[in-house]
Amino acid sequence: MILHFPGRAAELPFVSPSHMCCNCGQRSDLHPIEVTLKYTRYFLLAGTETNLLLTLPFCTGCIGTADRYRLGLLSKALITMGVFFVLMGALMFIPMNFLPDLVRDNLGRTAAILAVLLMAAYFRLRKPDLPRTSNDQPIYLRGLKRTFRGDIRSITLGFSNPEYAGEFRKANQDLCDSGALVIRSEK
Ligand SMILES: [Zn+2]
Repeated sequence: MILHFPGRAAELPFVSPSHMCCNCGQRSDLHPIEVTLKYTRYFLLAGTETNLLLTLPFCTGCIGTADRYRLGLLSKALITMGVFFVLMGALMFIPMNFLPDLVRDNLGRTAAILAVLLMAAYFRLRKPDLPRTSNDQPIYLRGLKRTFRGDIRSITLGFSNPEYAGEFRKANQDLCDSGALVIRSEK
């Protein structure tokens, strides 16, 4: 269950360098896109979601990644669990005498191991084609610190393109120095 806060998401007060694509780094054919960055926090089974807006430059080839959200750990776990049940069902359809003893005696464990291996391979193979640095949002909300009253005190942004991360840091140096903005580059 995700609790949505009503109203329009707040625009982040950061300066976005506009001379290169924030994903692949291309310097022509650029379009400013207003991107919604999502931050979800889970408390047991409930979550709160914060949406913040940031305008970023994308080339035509990378526009599709602007609103493709990264899967959180919980989503990955849920998908793996779905794959587990599908495998479990598939294993049960195979006549028992076709299965090796070890598998027959450990159906659940076999399905669990296969599900984890399959999903690990899938997420590993989903690497982007160079020069693109990410198939998902190249810039995303990694962390959010709030004051006791709920105001945002500090924002951590993750960048898949280290060059754009460097340019973004330069353009917002004062906010980085004060700790209001933390930039994390993946590479
Ligand atoms: Zn691009």
